[in-house]
Amino acid sequence: MAKEFSEDTKNKVLLWSDRHCCLCKKACGVDIQVHHIIPKEKKGTGVIDNAIPLCYDCHAKVHYSSLQGNSIKPNELKRRRDQIYEEFTHHLLSPVMFLLTQRGGREFPSIGFDIRNTGNTYPIGVRVDLYAYAKRKEIHFKKGENGYYSGRHIWNLNPGKGFINANFILPDYMMPVGFTELTAEEQSSYKLQIRIKLTIIDILEREHELLPEGFIYSPTIQSEQKWYAEP
Ligand SMILES: [Zn+2]
Repeated sequence: MAKEFSEDTKNKVLLWSDRHCCLCKKACGVDIQVHHIIPKEKKGTGVIDNAIPLCYDCHAKVHYSSLQGNSIKPNELKRRRDQIYEEFTHHLLSPVMFLLTQRGGREFPSIGFDIRNTGNTYPIGVRVDLYAYAKRKEIHFKKGENGYYSGRHIWNLNPGKGFINANFILPDYMMPVGFTELTAEEQSSYKLQIRIKLTIIDILEREHELLPEGFIYSPTIQSEQKWYAEP
């Protein structure tokens, strides 16, 4: 990994901070520098997570305080920086609606996944990470098995469009043993849960991780959907 920040990295962090200092929050215009949180002498690299935009004053003070053995810890710098990034990019986050469904007589373990950008302004990219509770632990889709649900593939969601109606097969390793042979009542009482974590990528290519949301499979309920939300 290169030690210096690439032009693309600098460009991104200055956009994400809207050229504000990530320590004192001053609007800096051109008087801003991109600082290494872990210094190059201490094996800090040019990776974007090691970058923080600072005004000239704060940049000098951060260097001076680390000489005095009184430095702000990297973890605090990153959290402050992330707060600033969030403040100047959260308006780019379009609301997303998604659900699991067996609508149209879809037979388990084929599961419908509907997702939609419900905003009317910004396009977004979304990574979908799907987990199931089976064998008493949370199991993620295997990397490589289905990139659409293991976070690798980026779903493009434009504003003002309807739902994308997608689907996937829940693989055996994510299900309790013998689950498909159970009766609908038995399957319902088992409360098979799927949790979905979305990561939204805004038009400035910043990733926003949302909290995971759970759904319980219940083939006996009236609704055609057969999955209900479990917060
Ligand atoms: Zn500053």
